[in-house]
Parts: sequence; C-alpha cells; structure tokens
Amino acid sequence: MTIKYQAIKGVKDILPGETEKWQFMEMTAREVFECYGFSEIRIPIFEKTVVFTRSIGETTDIVEKEMYTFTNGSGDSLTLRPEGTASVVRAYVEHNLYNPPSVVKLYYMGPMFRCERPQAGRYRQFYQIGAEVFGTENPEMDAESIGMLIRYFERLGLKDLELQINSLGCDECRPKFRKALLEFLKDRKNMLCEDCQRRFERNPLRIFDCKSANCHEATKESPTIESYMCENCKSHFDSTLRYLDKLNIPHTENPKLVRGLDYYTKTAFEIVSKKLGAQNTIAGGGRYDKLIEEFGGPPTPAFGFAIGIDRTASLMEDKNYIRISPQIFIATVGEKAGEKAFELIDTLRLKGIRVERDYENSSLKSQLRKADRAGVKYTIIIGEDEINKGRAILRDMPASQQEEIEILRIEEIVSQKLR
Ligand code: ATP
Ligand code: MG
Repeated sequence: MTIKYQAIKGVKDILPGETEKWQFMEMTAREVFECYGFSEIRIPIFEKTVVFTRSIGETTDIVEKEMYTFTNGSGDSLTLRPEGTASVVRAYVEHNLYNPPSVVKLYYMGPMFRCERPQAGRYRQFYQIGAEVFGTENPEMDAESIGMLIRYFERLGLKDLELQINSLGCDECRPKFRKALLEFLKDRKNMLCEDCQRRFERNPLRIFDCKSANCHEATKESPTIESYMCENCKSHFDSTLRYLDKLNIPHTENPKLVRGLDYYTKTAFEIVSKKLGAQNTIAGGGRYDKLIEEFGGPPTPAFGFAIGIDRTASLMEDKNYIRISPQIFIATVGEKAGEKAFELIDTLRLKGIRVERDYENSSLKSQLRKADRAGVKYTIIIGEDEINKGRAILRDMPASQQEEIEILRIEEIVSQKLR
C-alpha cells in the first residue's frame, strides 16, 4: 500500500495563483511602512521558551495551551514563535538598539505557530506582518501607527473594517479596576465557564475576551476601566482619539476590549472585518510601555500591532492585486526556428520580459492554445519560411491581429509594445 502524504492539520500550502496575492500584501506593507520610517527586522522562528512565557504572560491562552514547545539536545526548552513582539523586544534589548536614544521603528513578516483547534480563519501555522515602535510615549504615535495600518488596508482595497479601541490603563490604575471587577464577579463566579473560573483570580480581565455566552452574560453589567483610569492614562487615551479624528479615522470605543497578551498598557485596539464570520479580527495591537524593562532594557515606551495575513488574504478581491503572468509566448515551427527561438527567449528574459514557450514540439495550433491559456498579450511565431526571410510574426492575442516583423528588431519592438 502506498502512503498518502498530506500536510499537517491546520497547516496549509499556499499555491501559485494565491501566492501572488501574498506577495502583493507583503510588497504593499513594505512600501507603506517604509513611508513611515520603518525598517525590516528578521527574527528567528524559534526562541528559548522563557522569551514567550515572560512577555506574553503565564496565564494567557497562548502560553497555557497553544505553544509548540520542545527540548533540544542540551535540555533547553525551545518554542516555535506564537507571535513576533517578544522576539523583536528581545532583539532590541540584546543588540542595544536603544543606543543612541531615538525612536526605533521595526517591522517583520512571517509564519507564527499556535496549537489551536483548526477552523476557518484559525490555523496552526499562520502568517503575520507586524510593526513595533520603541522610544516614545507620545499619543501621536499611537494614532500614527493605527493610521499606517488603516492606510495599508485601504491600499489592499479592503472595505467595511471597524477600528475598536480601548485603554487598559497602567500599573497605577489597572489594579484598582481589577479589584472592582473581582468584587463584581464574585457573586457570578459560578456562571463562568471552566476556563474563566480558572482565570478568575489570576487574570480576570481575560474574562471579557471569552467567547462563551455565559461569560458574556456574566460581565454584561460589569464595571469598565473607564471609571478607574488615572489622569495620565485618561489624557493619553483622549489625545489618541483626538489624533485619530485628525486623520479622519473612524473608531468605536469598546470598553471591554482586552487582548490575548498580557503586556499591553494604555491603548489596545483591534481591527474587525464585517465581512468575516466568527474569526473576524484581522489585526490587533497596542501600547506596551513596560515590556522592554521586563527584558532587562532601560525604561522604553513602545507601541505595536500584528496583522493576521491569512484572514486579510481571504478578504482581498482579485481586482485589488496584480497577478504576475507571462507577457510573451514564443511559438515555433521546425527545428531551425526552435534553435533560433532558444537564443531569442534568453535575450528577451535578460531584458526582464516574462517569456513562456512550448517544450513539447507541439503543433502550432496547440502552441497558440497554450499561449492563450498563459494569458499573454503577444505571441511571436517563428517558422521555417520566416527564418529564411529573417522575419517573424507578432500576434496580438486579445485583438487576434498579426503583423510581420524583422527578427533582428524583435527585442526593440516587443520592449516598446509592452511599455
Ligand atoms: P483571536 O482572538 O482571533 O484568537 P488573538 O488575540 O489570539 O486573536 P493576536 O495574538 O493579537 O490574536 O494576533 C493578531 C492577529 O493574528 C489576529 O487578529 C488574527 O488575525 C491573527 N491570528 C491569530 N491567531 C491566528 C490563527 N491561529 N490563525 C490565523 N490567524 C491568526
Ligand atoms: Mg488567539
């Protein structure tokens, strides 16, 4: 019996036809982010486990149950990255990127790994593009970064997105809110799901993020952070919203928005698509002013976000990106023409022209069919007769018109036509 090999559940191949869309998302991110002064950082796919447990938080879903962790030969516990921020912060501190003091803006892209139940919009290997800014507390940066993200989605042609925003407070005000929340939930504890009963003491804010209807009901009338926010957090939040207004970016305040990672302070936000089902958040992020210190760096305020590329891709329509396809097809009849074409194809490709050909000595009719399927604008037909006259036929495929051209001038004529 032959074994049928298949990719692991929750992990997928991205095939030609689809990869063009991914390339477009990546290229556009580079273009947009570089306008805002970001440079690319390439971080490893795996790290020591503590890099993630320390930063993301011991009681988060990611650390509690979603990480791919293994031990290597020397007994170190290693983990496939479930997200990018922890590694970027580790690298920022490790390479003293805070010296000389300045605002440092970095972006990354690549696969992330979480052992979650696979379903639409939720994979075990998924892709993110993320950006992080280090070194400023200024709320203009919160608004500017969110603005950059929105502009990016606009460039991808996405519509019907909603920006939801909240402030999670800081070390000064969040504990007060936490206390009030615990007080409120005390009598409702048995309404909570098993996970949230566990979260109750350790991480009660996470209960807002639970998808269970009962937990939702239990927190319906709960206090929100708004009433507990300190002056500093309040003014930061108000300014952020004001700067978003200046950028004409509509936003919905959601006082129950929390994120799946513990390191956020002050601003937290998500971008939600009205066109997706249950897994409808396509990007999320916020401020994390304490994380750099956690990693042994100097006090450094920071802001960042991550885009879920798989979900973003599912929202992109064909008309919003360009599929790269061959521009020219070379069809030949006879051995001599084939020999000539072999060189000509190389010359054209060296010019940066995308050329396709037939490899099977097919009939002219069949070659033209292949040219049609390849979607080229022009086919060059070279036959025995034409070769002897030093000429070839240039066929405009969509117009079904053809003209004779000099073989010596093919390169020049084709370059001109494709311009
Ligand atoms: P969710 O609430 O959907 O689980 P999250 O809070 O775990 O999201 P983040 O860690 O903030 O997500 O990651 C940012 C984005 O990455 C998400 O908004 C989503 O678009 C995407 N993402 C996260 N986990 C997955 C996954 N398992 N498969 C596909 N995309 C994902
Ligand atoms: Mg999650």
